[in-house]
Amino acid sequence: MQLLKDRILKDGVVKPGNVLKVDSFLNHQMDITLINEIGKEFKSRFADCPITKILTIEASGIGIACIVAQYFDVPVVFAKKAQSINLDGEMYTTKVESFTHKKVYDVILAKKFLGPEDHVLLIDDFLANGCALLGLIDIVKKSGATLEGAGIVIEKGFQTGGKQIRDMGIRLESLAIIDSMTDTSLTFRD
Ligand code: 5GP
Repeated sequence: MQLLKDRILKDGVVKPGNVLKVDSFLNHQMDITLINEIGKEFKSRFADCPITKILTIEASGIGIACIVAQYFDVPVVFAKKAQSINLDGEMYTTKVESFTHKKVYDVILAKKFLGPEDHVLLIDDFLANGCALLGLIDIVKKSGATLEGAGIVIEKGFQTGGKQIRDMGIRLESLAIIDSMTDTSLTFRD
């Protein structure tokens, strides 16, 4: 998506540790005009899928997922990072290692919000090593819902998550795939 790539080149900042900061337009301050275009793009890429629910993970996926969901006219449900797990059987649970915080979280989703009748599109801001997406995939499996695919705004193609998820046979659409980045240059896959 050229509009997004241009914006990353203009306003993205590369930080040590292979972190790209896009907090001026995507995941802290949010440019809604751009994110609306992102929503339209995901809708056109997944137009053939009978999506009933969009699933994301807190925190930075939520705002983007809400805008995307307007183009699919379906609810958003987000997996929550839990302090402690209440094992009363009402929650799907999984574990996710955070790329940015280097910490393992328990992640939960109430069973009443996802079930076998659902067709799910996963949405997130970044794909790096794939832990966040793999956690969401695990929750979809546990729910018995059909996973239609995953939509990622920025994939860091030099990290392993994208390959691992495509190798699982999951339809993965990333709007910008970064092949390499340094302080002074950033290149995209075509
Ligand atoms: P993964 O689980 O695929 O390793 O990382 C995905 C999650 O880590 C995303 O939900 C995102 O919040 C965060 N993340 C990973 N890489 C970056 C990055 O380069 N910049 C920012 N801002 N967040 C990232």
